[in-house]
Amino acid sequence: MSKRDFYEILGISKSASEDEIKKAYRKLAIKYHPDKNPDDKSAEEKFKEAAEAYEVLSNPEKRQRYNQFGHAGVGGAASGGGGGHYGGGMNMDDIFSQFGDIFGGGGFGGSSRGGGGRRVVRGSNLRIKVKLNLSEVAKGVEKKLKVNKFVSCNTCKGSGGKNGQFETCKSCNGHGVQTRMQQTFLGAMQTQVTCSTCNGEGKIVKDKCNTCHGDGIVRQEEVISINIPAGVAEGMQLSVSGKGNAAPRGGINGDLLVVIEEEEHEFLKRDGSNLFYDSYVNFVDAALGTSIEIPTVDAKVKIKIEPGTQSGKVLRLKGKGLPDINSYGHGDLLVNINVWTPQNLTSEEKKTLEQLRESKNFAPNPNRKEKGFFDRMKEYFE
Ligand SMILES: [Zn+2]
Ligand SMILES: [Zn+2]
Repeated sequence: MSKRDFYEILGISKSASEDEIKKAYRKLAIKYHPDKNPDDKSAEEKFKEAAEAYEVLSNPEKRQRYNQFGHAGVGGAASGGGGGHYGGGMNMDDIFSQFGDIFGGGGFGGSSRGGGGRRVVRGSNLRIKVKLNLSEVAKGVEKKLKVNKFVSCNTCKGSGGKNGQFETCKSCNGHGVQTRMQQTFLGAMQTQVTCSTCNGEGKIVKDKCNTCHGDGIVRQEEVISINIPAGVAEGMQLSVSGKGNAAPRGGINGDLLVVIEEEEHEFLKRDGSNLFYDSYVNFVDAALGTSIEIPTVDAKVKIKIEPGTQSGKVLRLKGKGLPDINSYGHGDLLVNINVWTPQNLTSEEKKTLEQLRESKNFAPNPNRKEKGFFDRMKEYFE
């Protein structure tokens, strides 16, 4: 399923200000709010879609990543390379918790949407950083990560109770929520808040487990192996569903969020899927032609320097860049040829050059056929 453009969803331009983003979202949130559209699946989808777009675009850092890398940059790429999915998507709890910010004050409040009744407790997400070198970025890599996290307690099988015995919560009569009337700008609204006695679970443990003291979870180190697809970039976040912290007393696991960090390569610079290399040749080689060795991600390659090569010529090695995470394509390796002018010369070398100084073949030719700096830049960015 391909995702719609976030700007399109909110109906705003790419240059929209923070205020415009907020306003646009506010409008959609009111229009598609579940309380105004009971049992309307398509309204609910639109409500979620708008919330997700707002979540990204209202955060300057995420917005910049989205502008640069699209959905992949904010953990929304549909293509899953092996382990884990990279799905974004927000649940209703996330959306309502965002409302305090957008509507001010308590907003609509309420956190137990969807199921109506008892709330499913979700473990928290874990975030870890992974450093990759360029060759790992180019090929994709499986990383084994040591993670200290909450896992389900073995003694009580995650229930938190000694003999698996529970009693119904008296504060909420087992519903997990308490109903409250609240004044909002849409008028009086019935909102539901999570029961604080049972944390929304509707029941409480009778006899607490000694190992986890009734929590149902314990801290433990775990090695998680994740497949990182080729072409990821600095700052990208991959989410591995269900590999985060376990939830107390048998809820669902949170996600493991893997943030990509890139090690800088000694010689190669990166721009998206293209790579750049600055090479230097002496001016005799530039005049007479030669061949030079160029580093690529995995091996050195030889390239030919034609006789009469000008400084600033860019050679494009097709497909020698990085794989594009959003497509099956590959970037290129662009080699910038700098002609090196000698800075330390012996008097003998100076003499030799003096003899050549007046030669008319050494005079710069302003009518050269080679592209200038401006043309090369234009060509690259087009
Ligand atoms: Zn236990
Ligand atoms: Zn309760």
